[in-house]
Amino acid sequence: MTTAYKITEHKYDMVVVGAGGAGLRATFGLAQKGLQTACITKVFPTRSHTVAAQGGISAALGNMGPDDWRFHFYDTIKGSDWLGDQDAIEYMCREAIPAIIELEHQGVPFSRTEDGRIYQRPFGGMTTDYGKGTAQRTCAAADRTGHAILHTLYQQSLKHDARFFVEYFALDLIMDEHGACKGVLALDMSEGTLHLFRAHGTVLATGGYGRAYFSCTSAHTCTGDGGGMALRAGLGLQDMEFVQFHPTGIYGAGCLITEGVRGEGGILRNASGERFMERYAPNAKDLASRDVVSRAMTLEIREGRGVGEHKDHIHLDLTHLNPADIHEKLPGIAESARIFAGVDVEKQPIPVIPTVHYNMGGIPTNYHGEVVQLRGGDPDAVVPGLYAIGEAACVSVHGANRLGSNSLLDLVVFGRAVANRCAETIKPSQQHGRLAGDACDRSLANLDKVRNANGSTPTAVIRDRMQRTMQADAAVFRTGETLAEGVSKIRDIHASFADVRVSDRSLVWNSDLVETFELQNLLGQALATITSAANRTESRGAHAREDFPERNDGEWMKHSLCRVGEDGSTSIEYRPVHLYTLDDDVGVVPPKPRVY
Ligand SMILES: Cc1cc2nc3c(=O)[nH]c(=O)nc-3n(C[C@H](O)[C@H](O)[C@H](O)COP(=O)(O)OP(=O)(O)OC[C@H]3O[C@@H](n4cnc5c(N)ncnc54)[C@H](O)[C@@H]3O)c2cc1C
Repeated sequence: MTTAYKITEHKYDMVVVGAGGAGLRATFGLAQKGLQTACITKVFPTRSHTVAAQGGISAALGNMGPDDWRFHFYDTIKGSDWLGDQDAIEYMCREAIPAIIELEHQGVPFSRTEDGRIYQRPFGGMTTDYGKGTAQRTCAAADRTGHAILHTLYQQSLKHDARFFVEYFALDLIMDEHGACKGVLALDMSEGTLHLFRAHGTVLATGGYGRAYFSCTSAHTCTGDGGGMALRAGLGLQDMEFVQFHPTGIYGAGCLITEGVRGEGGILRNASGERFMERYAPNAKDLASRDVVSRAMTLEIREGRGVGEHKDHIHLDLTHLNPADIHEKLPGIAESARIFAGVDVEKQPIPVIPTVHYNMGGIPTNYHGEVVQLRGGDPDAVVPGLYAIGEAACVSVHGANRLGSNSLLDLVVFGRAVANRCAETIKPSQQHGRLAGDACDRSLANLDKVRNANGSTPTAVIRDRMQRTMQADAAVFRTGETLAEGVSKIRDIHASFADVRVSDRSLVWNSDLVETFELQNLLGQALATITSAANRTESRGAHAREDFPERNDGEWMKHSLCRVGEDGSTSIEYRPVHLYTLDDDVGVVPPKPRVY
């Protein structure tokens, strides 16, 4: 029987869930436009994972050599392995330039060139002249760019009158009978009270779900809660099979060593000290895009050329770099390598291994940040009142593989886009309509069930099984066999959630309960990921099938849209890739083989 829960009601024009780079940019943008905005976040804003971003944010400023946003557009499409939507990519790459200038004016302390311009470093897959040269396009604040940006965005949010609800955990979207979103139900974790946030627009900016895997670079809070909420609301998630492995996570610890290290001249070496990337990507070498480098490293290890006692990792060598440059441009990396790998980067190479880093898939949106679904034959049908931005979303600007430094960019560009869109479509201080009396019932029933869960398997045990299975069966290389096995295991693990045990029944600071909600969100997304991966019988971007090694544009140049029922049933539909641009400023890039 459901316990009666008391709910406090709040009314706003807009509610933003998440206070990372995407959530904060949207929050103050909305407030600036005169919309009453609440931002709810499960961690203090400046603790969001964006704070950990190291390498930088891309924009064709051309501060360090010639560049053009059209080159950036081309690189992003090629990086996406032609799964990215070209209208959205055009929007992002063009808007990148004013977005960085805006950040600069807001106070981001970017590193500088001798003549005072924003410093830019080379990053993987970023070229000039449509693949011919190397672009220096990634704007950096040393190796702490995310930290610098997040703090600046938080200051801007305080300046504009947004209301923050910190350490509130969003449980579910509140949808009406017509499929429109009317707000969210959230738990104030410190008080143990429930809050219904009613809004004309709800923005999910909840970040990625890296924690579905055993070894990942993202924070423990990256549990894809927005994706979980969308699945429970019956919405499909897009392109979930595309999970990015960053080539350089510290072996064993999983912490990230930014691609900026290779941008500054760091080199990957195998057991014989060979710079093996020259064989796999003769032009871009160590700065080929992430999927390409991660596969090359995996092959080196497989063929017995890995380093270390078990020959199971690779060396990232910085010893030839000028110590003064390391000190100035990569201070955080030197520190991470010392603490987590016990190496002095001036004298020893860093042990690294491809590590789960980013989710290209997520809640499908158009380039205004409006959530879209396939409905009645319309592949771009907007879900009224619901928006998604940042890593939680799939716009899709990253397609099958994201280029480094394009995520921080996506946060600010689409955070701003959603604010602009809502300013056009939502009038401030409109009346809220009637909400059905039972609008929160499903969510409350779930809360009650999880809180009183009296099964035999602790949350941590189910989570560990899920993470290990994803790590083994939805890896850098995939085969039909391992994926089929993975699907069957993840189905069983998903089903075992019915047997979860939560030992703390309180609602006040109950981390056991909150972790169980997070696990529930992760499980849905793990299932969507591995099912979509088993379904896609081609190789594209980060999805490398050994049994289908070629990209197959005829059949598979389309987005997968996966739904997961409460009972673990899955269904997959497709949306077409947008092979058109917004205007004549840039032409469509037709698909061709992807070589670096
Ligand atoms: C170590 C690391 C380094 C990176 N370096 C770079 C880089 O140099 N350049 C680049 O472009 N990209 C980089 N990335 C990727 C990029 O940083 C992330 O994709 C991006 O920061 C995600 O931002 P976000 O705003 O979408 O979400 P996040 O920053 O993850 O924030 C999510 C927010 O949602 C809130 N939230 C989540 N669930 C709930 C809930 N249930 N209720 C309430 N609130 C909730 C959280 O409290 C948080 O505020 C890096 C990623 C990592 C992990």
